[in-house]
Amino acid sequence: MNNTQSAIEQALAERHLHRRVPYEFGRTRALDIQDTFESNARTYPRRFPIVIKRASGAYVEDENGNVYLDCLCGAGSLTLGHNHPVVIGAIRDFLDSGVPLQTLDVMTPVKEAFIQDLLGVLPATFSAGAKIQFCGPGGADAVEAGLKLVRTAQARDTILAFQGAYHGMSQGALQLMGNLGPKAAVAGASAVQFLPYPNAYQCPFGLGGAAGEAAGLNYIETVLQDPESGVLKPAGIILELVQGEGGVIPAPDSWTRKLREIANRADVPLIFDEVQTGLGRTGRLFAMEHSGVVPDVLVLSKAIGGGLPMSVVVYDGRLDSWQPGAHAGTFRGNQLAMAAGSATIRYVVKEALHEQAERKGKLLMQLLEQLRLESGLIGEVRGRGLMIGVQFAERSGANGSKGVLPPSNARAVQLECLRRGLIVELGGRRSSVARFLPPLTISEAQLEIIFEIFREALHSVERAFSGKVDAV
Ligand code: PMP
Repeated sequence: MNNTQSAIEQALAERHLHRRVPYEFGRTRALDIQDTFESNARTYPRRFPIVIKRASGAYVEDENGNVYLDCLCGAGSLTLGHNHPVVIGAIRDFLDSGVPLQTLDVMTPVKEAFIQDLLGVLPATFSAGAKIQFCGPGGADAVEAGLKLVRTAQARDTILAFQGAYHGMSQGALQLMGNLGPKAAVAGASAVQFLPYPNAYQCPFGLGGAAGEAAGLNYIETVLQDPESGVLKPAGIILELVQGEGGVIPAPDSWTRKLREIANRADVPLIFDEVQTGLGRTGRLFAMEHSGVVPDVLVLSKAIGGGLPMSVVVYDGRLDSWQPGAHAGTFRGNQLAMAAGSATIRYVVKEALHEQAERKGKLLMQLLEQLRLESGLIGEVRGRGLMIGVQFAERSGANGSKGVLPPSNARAVQLECLRRGLIVELGGRRSSVARFLPPLTISEAQLEIIFEIFREALHSVERAFSGKVDAV
């Protein structure tokens, strides 16, 4: 613990260390109210039936006094963990400053600082000549803006997206999604065509590795160049450089570079969705820095608001042909989020938290890789920086090439983690991937505890099921 960590965090760390497990999850008044009144579309409470009372750093405490290490962290939005003193301090200073909380998209000194802070950390080759559009509060809002931007600039409709992609739940963003579940219920014509993402574990061509990547690139080039491909020339190609919700699948850098060349040859803008990978998560300030490839359009949210709702699109000024008011909206000026975001950006850079993410991520990946060798339940460990996924395998240990994974033991392991004081989310095909998104401020000692809990949970499921898999 260092002195920037709060007294609350210290107290929660102590309690977590001496926790009595397994935790039980009974009904409480608050959960009953949630079940009775909240929408059937609610999500996380189904996996995490707890009432959160306090949180600090990587720790969360529920109303029963149970303490958890949090590897979900607001779906990756809490780069510095919960209620970090730097963020809380920036919010307090802002409130004392008299700057209004809401100004639509009218300029303020807070916004001026945020624009400079954000452009200052983006690769210079991208930020020179870039424009920013402030969007509604969530990542999906910025995705919608990005789509509208390229469709307007290119006067075309079609968008190319990737299998396994996740770009949000609003109507336009949903159409870009790989996962059929949430889309199937919402009819609507879609001008989106899907491309194969480089996915070695579950290669759509049954090839994997370099051969699978090459086949995918060849296919994409064909879609864009063959006059009989059946796909109208697109307005843009959108992708995540590490698919997050899709199961933590990093695109190889060589693949990304070749995709850039293909897009250039076809004269189609590339949109990078760095909503989840942005600001240090993958071991670089932005995931694009791994390959050195810059996009034409960059979509950002989550971390850049310091954990408060904000999203932006940053794009090549040459695409700036939409008209005044083309993407109006009331809540495009979340001043509090800009203040928290600026403070977070500066702190990440000052402490080189992206470099820490790289180092700490390697440590956790190494531990998990050893666990893969010990356990038949794990098919692959993959990720970048502190964005790590454990792909659960078919019990036989078979993987890849078949297109569809059978149900795995991931859900059962997730629950056993929770009972032992660890919050991890699932993703990937049929929720078969445990996803680790701890704060970048996490300590190595905490990572080791996370690993120990995960290992215990995994072994307990192995013992309990001894060969069976849960229905998902
Ligand atoms: N893009 C990516 C890559 C994401 O991971 C997410 C959210 N997980 C979104 C877009 C959508 O963001 P939001 O949930 O804030 O709308």
